[in-house]
Amino acid sequence: MKVGVLALQGAVAEHIRSLQAVGVEAVAVKRVEQLDELDGLIIPGGESTTIGKLMRKYGFMDALAQFHEAGKPLFGTCAGLIVLADQIEGQEEAHLKLMNMKVARNAFGRQRESFEAVLPVKGIEEPITGVFIRAPLIKAVGEGVDVLSEFKGEIVTARQGTLLACSFHPELTDDVRLHAYFVDMIKEAQALRA
Ligand code: GLN
Repeated sequence: MKVGVLALQGAVAEHIRSLQAVGVEAVAVKRVEQLDELDGLIIPGGESTTIGKLMRKYGFMDALAQFHEAGKPLFGTCAGLIVLADQIEGQEEAHLKLMNMKVARNAFGRQRESFEAVLPVKGIEEPITGVFIRAPLIKAVGEGVDVLSEFKGEIVTARQGTLLACSFHPELTDDVRLHAYFVDMIKEAQALRA
């Protein structure tokens, strides 16, 4: 199994380390041609407007729509969650529009720009620690989206089939269980494609 981390902007090296820690081969992805050899892809945190611009510039919009169509899983963390959403509050244009959800950017305001929280996540036995950095929130989910975790009544992790998204940075702690969860999603998807 080979998993990519979209490396146009943002927290790439940390995701690669977390993927390696769960025992899979991980590569930084800068060109669309690299997608062919991958079984899944992480879209990291960073700045969603910048990531979106670079994705358009380098042909990733269509290429990732096809990647998804082919049944290969995508995991968006923080800015990556924004990139997956089909609606962004206060913005006319969204990016990949693959996940049936409405998100709000920088949803925690200035006084709570960055913090950690312990979160129970559906499908993971013990709570995980989430690092929130100018984090978005999922304000509403549509059909087919399963809420996996909430923080103070707001949705911070969700899954829709082969798509996974979280508001926080799971790659900034040594706890790699959410990466392991994503790798299990990839195994399930591979079994379905076989
Ligand atoms: N605030 C950023 C955005 O809106 C996301 C922050 C992050 O990825 N840590 O794109």
